[in-house]
Amino acid sequence: MTKTVALIVAAGRGHRFGGELPKQYSKFADKTVLRHTLEAFIRHTDIDSIQVVIHPDDMNLYSEACYGLKLHKPVFGGATRQQSVVNGLEALNEDNPDHVLIHDAARPFIDADLITRIIASLKEGSHGILPALSVVDTLKQVSDGVVQKTVSRENLWRAQTPQGFQYQQILSAHKRCEQNIEGQNLTDDVSVAEYAGLKVRIIEGSEKNMKITTQDDLTQAKMSSKYLIQAETRTGLGYDVHKFCEGKEVILCGVAIPHNQALLGHSDADVAMHALTDALLGAIGEGDIGTHFPPTDPQWKGASSDVFLRHAATLVMEKSATIINVDVTIICEKPKIVPHREKMEKSIAEILSIDPGRVNIKATTTEKLGFTGRCEGIASQAVTSIRF
Ligand code: MG
Repeated sequence: MTKTVALIVAAGRGHRFGGELPKQYSKFADKTVLRHTLEAFIRHTDIDSIQVVIHPDDMNLYSEACYGLKLHKPVFGGATRQQSVVNGLEALNEDNPDHVLIHDAARPFIDADLITRIIASLKEGSHGILPALSVVDTLKQVSDGVVQKTVSRENLWRAQTPQGFQYQQILSAHKRCEQNIEGQNLTDDVSVAEYAGLKVRIIEGSEKNMKITTQDDLTQAKMSSKYLIQAETRTGLGYDVHKFCEGKEVILCGVAIPHNQALLGHSDADVAMHALTDALLGAIGEGDIGTHFPPTDPQWKGASSDVFLRHAATLVMEKSATIINVDVTIICEKPKIVPHREKMEKSIAEILSIDPGRVNIKATTTEKLGFTGRCEGIASQAVTSIRF
């Protein structure tokens, strides 16, 4: 099995972009440019892990943008792009991947097909793979605003990222570059590979894989992401009941609440989290919690229910879908839910990697009627909306 890591370069200041906020942290379609980029790699099943290189001043921006995502601890970049990449590559030393895809954070529209084609080409043994597009516009050489001559566009290509390499080769190429031609502005990794004499093949890039360099580019990204806003929304519904048994606490939405009884179940009997898991699975057409985690399977005995919810969230992400909101109702006379609401919302938001503002937990009684009214157990309902 080959191991492939994505190295995302997000340490730039983006002087052409202007303003205080670096472009990789500006938003379109509800998310930062960086998060769109990272999610594209997280979704891809051939990418084993992701390393991000950030500017030391951006730690807070990074933490906010990448909330809940499974990534290597970020490393800080250096004074030049090349030094930043060296820092990122060195951080992967222990991981020692076979292949590394080095990608600029400012290209959020990278699609699965291009990633797949780069990895496939690397497996054929090239030192490096460059996605590139031919030049279609006529090229002019200009001096002081006056056209001097027309330049042939033959054999000219526009370089994109991700650029794919054999890890050890690009690492040593970068180290040699660092020692010998310090200060030179190498704007991509194929330049480094060229310097080291590596053989880099090109494959067809993608017009969609645009780089956000200016404010105009961001406006264009917002326009092209309109389809995300107009995309299909699906709703899922979940319901679950667990009965009380002897015990000292109940677990609801991952929060332990002291009580003179516990809930009976094969797992930790987190009735609210089960209802929510079913709602998510329902919205994406993936059956129910029992089909994924059979109660007859001994490995789920006493399991913490966040395992079930995390699995559902992963399935949502693998379908390139986004959770818009979740709403959970807990139905019982006791214990009192309200004092624990905020903690529960945070717990669910963390598991689903979404903003706590998109999670609502509420409680109701049944006016002492029925099994919940007689305090024989707790019921829970959940509903979610998911954008495809
Ligand atoms: Mg259950």
